[in-house]
Amino acid sequence: MASNSLECPICLDALKNPVATPCGHLSCETCLKSHVRSSPDPIHANCPTCRATFPIVSPDLSLVPKKYHMFISPSVRRVYVDPTNEEGAETIENLSEKVALLEARVSSLQREKRVLIERCENAFHASRKHQEGEKAARLVAEEAKKEMRAAHKKYDAMKEKYQGVKTQCVLVSFCRLS
Ligand SMILES: [Zn+2]
Ligand SMILES: [Zn+2]
Repeated sequence: MASNSLECPICLDALKNPVATPCGHLSCETCLKSHVRSSPDPIHANCPTCRATFPIVSPDLSLVPKKYHMFISPSVRRVYVDPTNEEGAETIENLSEKVALLEARVSSLQREKRVLIERCENAFHASRKHQEGEKAARLVAEEAKKEMRAAHKKYDAMKEKYQGVKTQCVLVSFCRLS
């Protein structure tokens, strides 16, 4: 494990929040901070790996014109280890898991939407059919009413005729008796 580049040269453990010195060597942020604090030189420190000196004082940005600020970077920089590292791989796995979950959610929502649209169309067709049915039923009912009225008239006429015949009959029998 001594050749492992992801090992901190100060605590000899796996790098935690790795930072890089200008010479490109990595160490834990807290380890390098305490290493720099213990430096006898107030403006320089030595790389814990190769002993190269680097400045530990950054220029006062208020004295530097703003347009040059982007050219001034701290000598010690934070390092983002690439996703071949276990933690990073886990993050990418989590992300693809999240993406898969979201994709599943989206397709289930699309299915729900299709089902809802289908149900809506069915209800619409059913209500149209019902309206048509209602119209037909109304026509039938009106027709029946008309027929009933006609039948009533016929009945009344028949009743009148019957009453007339009955009266005649009574009269005839009266004549016979007398
Ligand atoms: Zn360390
Ligand atoms: Zn170095």
